[in-house]
Amino acid sequence: MKEQKPYEENQLKILFTLEQIEEKICELGKRISDDYAGLDLVMIGVLRGSTYFLVDLTRRMRIPFAIDFISISHYSEQADSTGVVRITKDLDLSISGKHVLIVEGIVDTGLSLGYLLRNLKTRNPESLKICTLLNVEARRIVEVPVDYKGFDIPNIFVVGYGLDYNEKYRNLQFIAEFNRP
Ligand code: 5GP
Ligand code: MG
Repeated sequence: MKEQKPYEENQLKILFTLEQIEEKICELGKRISDDYAGLDLVMIGVLRGSTYFLVDLTRRMRIPFAIDFISISHYSEQADSTGVVRITKDLDLSISGKHVLIVEGIVDTGLSLGYLLRNLKTRNPESLKICTLLNVEARRIVEVPVDYKGFDIPNIFVVGYGLDYNEKYRNLQFIAEFNRP
């Protein structure tokens, strides 16, 4: 078997360690548990970048709730210029009458979440809010209300803890700035 090259460490600059991420997630989990106590909550992970975040966040929550996933993709490679988005894997659960919290790894231009919000609103949830681990305010094209956020970051490309570069690096135990080759 051909030997796999390890990470190009010089391409990665660590921004947040797992310890920092976990501390933040612990706070978020507590806040969300307080805010949604007694309510019929569905947590929706946006595949695939939010998966590590969703799993760790929900482990920190102390209320009962449902979990579902949705997957979206951009028609165009230049996602940020067109904003044309489609659902490639829809929810399995009905969210009508439910309190819904969308969980994202990173909100950048806001185009993906802007679309998701519009789409999910038509399904008549009781409430609809957003939780993201990372937020890039400087890149925003569409205003989206971020109700819970982990960290604000500048306009840089990041990988790790669920976030990919060409589908790789999601498993990194930290979030790092990545210099794309
Ligand atoms: P938006 O629609 O807000 O511009 O983009 C959101 C999506 O773009 C995220 O779900 C993620 O898939 C991708 N994305 C945006 N910025 C980054 C980044 O810095 N790193 C990675 N890995 N993905 C990003
Ligand atoms: Mg992606």
